[in-house]
Amino acid sequence: MATKRDYYEVLGVDKSASADEIKKAYRKLALKYHPDKNPGDKAAEEKFIEAAEAYDVLSDADKRARYDQFGHNMGPQGFPGGGAGGYSAGFDINDIFEHFGDIFGGRFGGEWGGATGGRQRAPRKPTRKGSDLRIKVKLTLAEIATGISKTLKIPTQVKCEHCNGTGAKDGTAFTTCTTCHGTGVVTQVQQTILGAMQTQSVCPHCNGEGKTITQNCSYCNGEGTERKEQLVSFNIPAGVTDGMTLTVKGKGNAPRHGGVNGDLLVVIEEIKHPELIRDGNDVIYNLMLDLPTATLGGSVEVPTISGRARLNIAAGTQPGKVLRLRGKGLPSPEGRGTGDELINVMVYIPEQLDDRIRSAVESIKDDPNIKPSESTKQRLFSKLKHIFE
Ligand SMILES: [Zn+2]
Ligand SMILES: [Zn+2]
Repeated sequence: MATKRDYYEVLGVDKSASADEIKKAYRKLALKYHPDKNPGDKAAEEKFIEAAEAYDVLSDADKRARYDQFGHNMGPQGFPGGGAGGYSAGFDINDIFEHFGDIFGGRFGGEWGGATGGRQRAPRKPTRKGSDLRIKVKLTLAEIATGISKTLKIPTQVKCEHCNGTGAKDGTAFTTCTTCHGTGVVTQVQQTILGAMQTQSVCPHCNGEGKTITQNCSYCNGEGTERKEQLVSFNIPAGVTDGMTLTVKGKGNAPRHGGVNGDLLVVIEEIKHPELIRDGNDVIYNLMLDLPTATLGGSVEVPTISGRARLNIAAGTQPGKVLRLRGKGLPSPEGRGTGDELINVMVYIPEQLDDRIRSAVESIKDDPNIKPSESTKQRLFSKLKHIFE
């Protein structure tokens, strides 16, 4: 497959485009390349699908944010490498028409059955999808640093085994729907901005099932689903951030009367570390040195994501100095390196003075080495420039 074009480029809009601008741009392209206007034109059809795919992502705030961050490489799964490699995987031309209601303000129906050209298809029963489940997973920085696999018990609507999810007694107590004659769809001709269009919609009598139940399954009262604790295992990759949502396909609720399961959405919640502050892939620790250690040098213990570490302090360490523990931060979720731990040094100047401390400090206050020279000041301030700029 050719390299995918940038979605903003496809729609011809800026990265900062508003939802309205995106909608307008898509509307224009969809009209131009609509299959009914370009019968048999393969290139137009590809452009039509490309635009729809771009719109599908950019019109959804969640998907757009993820796309802005990860580009095409982060599949719809939300797991790096977990998806089939992009939003186009499974993108069906029939999905495109789902958008037409909000784009054109009319109902185009769920199935592509253009009367004036394009492809004629046998009516297709719409696939029902169960609702998505959403759970929060709280993670410590240590868990985020390594990634973690979780196995959780989640109350879920699952397929009723007694009727195989159909809702009918023994899975067989059905009769064919008399309104749609078993097809699940009814055909209508509608006037639209593109001219007369033959559209198909879900049969209102049987809700698209093509059949009606003559006797309910007694275990699920005809729903086809029952509530059960479902054991779900999934991997959370290293480097995730607070608020990120990962999708576990097919682990959501089963729909009524059979179909495709919804998804399980895993929302990441980061448990605040008591001492470390996260800054992207780096972590920051504020270290308060006492005056003798900063002056004479020594060794101090500092927290890291994976435990405590000993740190050597050079004699004459200045407040404002930033020490760096390379690679002690968090890995980037895209697999691009690992952050650092940055240690901000502060020096504690004694606030409570007893006679001993007072006389000790007084005895050295006129020593020439106690007061910084002009050049020393310049040298030290230039090292701190990054803080003030
Ligand atoms: Zn029907
Ligand atoms: Zn049942």
